[in-house]
Amino acid sequence: MMLLKGARVIDPQVGIDGVMDVLVDGGVIAEVSEAVDAPEGCEVVDCAGKVLVPGLVDMHVHFRDPGFEYKEDIASGVRAATHGGFTDVATMPNTDPVTDTGTAVRYQIDRGADAGLTRVHPIGALTRGEDGESLAEIGDMVMEGACGFSDDGHGVQSAGMMRTCMEYVSQFDRAVIAHCEDESLTANGVVNEGRASTRLGMFGWPALGEELEVMRDIELCRLTGCPLHVAHISTARSLDLVRAAKAEGLPVTCEVTPHHLFLTEENITDSYNTNLKVNPPLRTRDDAEALVAGLADGSIDCVVSDHAPHAAHEKDCEFEIAYFGTVGLETTLPLMLTYLVDRGTITWQRLVEVLAVAPRRILRLEPVAVEAGSAADLTLIDPEAAVTVTTEYFESKSKNSAFLGLHLKGAASDVVIGGKRVLEAGLVR
Ligand SMILES: [Zn+2]
Repeated sequence: MMLLKGARVIDPQVGIDGVMDVLVDGGVIAEVSEAVDAPEGCEVVDCAGKVLVPGLVDMHVHFRDPGFEYKEDIASGVRAATHGGFTDVATMPNTDPVTDTGTAVRYQIDRGADAGLTRVHPIGALTRGEDGESLAEIGDMVMEGACGFSDDGHGVQSAGMMRTCMEYVSQFDRAVIAHCEDESLTANGVVNEGRASTRLGMFGWPALGEELEVMRDIELCRLTGCPLHVAHISTARSLDLVRAAKAEGLPVTCEVTPHHLFLTEENITDSYNTNLKVNPPLRTRDDAEALVAGLADGSIDCVVSDHAPHAAHEKDCEFEIAYFGTVGLETTLPLMLTYLVDRGTITWQRLVEVLAVAPRRILRLEPVAVEAGSAADLTLIDPEAAVTVTTEYFESKSKNSAFLGLHLKGAASDVVIGGKRVLEAGLVR
């Protein structure tokens, strides 16, 4: 038994916001009330000054296992996730081999369970080897526990193939998670097309390269009825398209990353910091402002890190040939607290919705709430924790963070998964 004593408990699902004691018995929450007496032999955790919320979920991470374990493997990935405050993550299938079979899905779940930290929920590939041409074994992957389907890393280039994928996935109560990129438009692009590409003299990745596939996939959602989740939305117009689809009642959701909220193409200077090379690219200030507004008003459903670890030699090179991506699992929560919650741009309730409630709903995971009877999957946040983003800060094998050097305020101090404390006072067990 464990008694979490005196935290400010916030959970909009049960309309709770106040200082409470939470008693955990086995893997389940036994009681939530203003004063719980500790039963004999019960571990008591003093949570004064901290905020207790349903366990956080990052529904878009890359663990590179199997195939690229030198960047990250499942064991190191879940350590980073636990350190970042997450009880659950969903892993993208662009591994080597691609996660496109039931066996490959089972491998990820089992490896995650072996680590005994953050739970791993694999997202299966839509097409075999993410080739964009032949349907993967969707049904087998659902049977083994795939929580969604995506060819992330690539857009599905053929509208006909995407239609087939969506028709098929729609039979299994799962969402198609779309990496929207028309490669005939983005080609060799490495930065946003426009000011950045002109100023830096590099190939541009135009906003339309994303927006055209967002438009197409919303139309295919209308045609097939398959739930569509737009991954890492990056432009104001993409957001408007999603807003319009939602207003029509189509089953469309979307996510945004911290780097698209808090960084813009203007951050890429003549120092050519390759950690700012991400896909889709950092956009304009107007885009970033629109995304923050969309997150606050509910148009954007959730925040994901798109945690994309790369080894030093894959980033320590010319901008054009550097790999796309930034690590993010360990900075998402501190960034959200520092730049949005602390400034009053979003409420704590909204933070819980975008980092805990919505991702579980989109991935069809069991809901978790801070109430008696719910699974004891909890994140305890210290709003005053000082975080300096250095390479030493990361549990991840890779250090390619777009946010290196920042001083942030607020981080997870403890993570409870199935009633077991796996992060204690900021340290992974
Ligand atoms: Zn992607």
